Amino acid sequence: MPEPTIADDLLQLLNWEQKHGRKTVYLAPDTRSQFFPDSVQACRETRDANPAPASRSTEPRVTGAGLKTDTSAATIQQAKQDSSDHGGDPMTCGWEDLSRLVQTCHRCSLHKSRTNVVFGEGDPHARIMFIGEGPGFDEDQSGRPFVGRAGQLLTKMIQAMQLSREEVFIGNIVKCRPPGNRTPHEDEAEACLPFLRRQIELIQPDILVLLGATPLKYILGKTGITRLHGTWHDVNGIATIPTFHPSYLLRSPQRKRDVWEDLKKVMARIGKDPEETMRKVRRQD
Ligand code: SF4
Repeated sequence: MPEPTIADDLLQLLNWEQKHGRKTVYLAPDTRSQFFPDSVQACRETRDANPAPASRSTEPRVTGAGLKTDTSAATIQQAKQDSSDHGGDPMTCGWEDLSRLVQTCHRCSLHKSRTNVVFGEGDPHARIMFIGEGPGFDEDQSGRPFVGRAGQLLTKMIQAMQLSREEVFIGNIVKCRPPGNRTPHEDEAEACLPFLRRQIELIQPDILVLLGATPLKYILGKTGITRLHGTWHDVNGIATIPTFHPSYLLRSPQRKRDVWEDLKKVMARIGKDPEETMRKVRRQD
């Protein structure tokens, strides 16, 4: 009887994994290159084929106060470790590979309780990117960001800016739901930030709108949303403005006026006239 080969062992292992409900198996990059050279080449091509829109600078732009610190050797090492674990590198992968990497991510303990990873959605070349805290129950169930009550309010905010959800990009600091909708822990946010950073790099938005205290902390490295909402900051060339999170507005509707003032500042930067929105509201009344 012939000796079992490595292929036999591998097949046995894959059958066992499939029987136990595993749909994804990670391969180290070397193994991947050896057995699936086309897929590795496709990853490189995806990465190279993610140019910025023609009207934008093609210079790499990331980071800012909070983000800048993460280009440290330790973070790069962490990203490389992630690359070994997951067969791709969040620091260099293109959009499709990044999405795949996130969908199978186990970098922090939030993966244990998630139903779906929420990658974010919208225009991958959007001029405006909204960044919230993390998925809630509805988002976890659907795999889409901001679809619950707070999400409906965000949609109205975007429409008030004379835009649609499809024209902007909506993401979060963490991509898996913290149990009970608690604030993400620092280690969870730090583990997830490389993905968001890469999304910002690939999208190259003109404006980041930070929704609430959590993105304020991790993107700008600041606290005090009540004091800082509506103020402009520079995140390596990207104009960045914090405002209140829609879920806070549901609890404190008196803050809606403040948020509208913040959004008007964003509208002014993209050439939209807030008066036009007000005329539309008056017509509907
Ligand atoms: S929250 Fe982010 S880092 Fe944590 S498991 Fe989900 S995708 Fe990975």
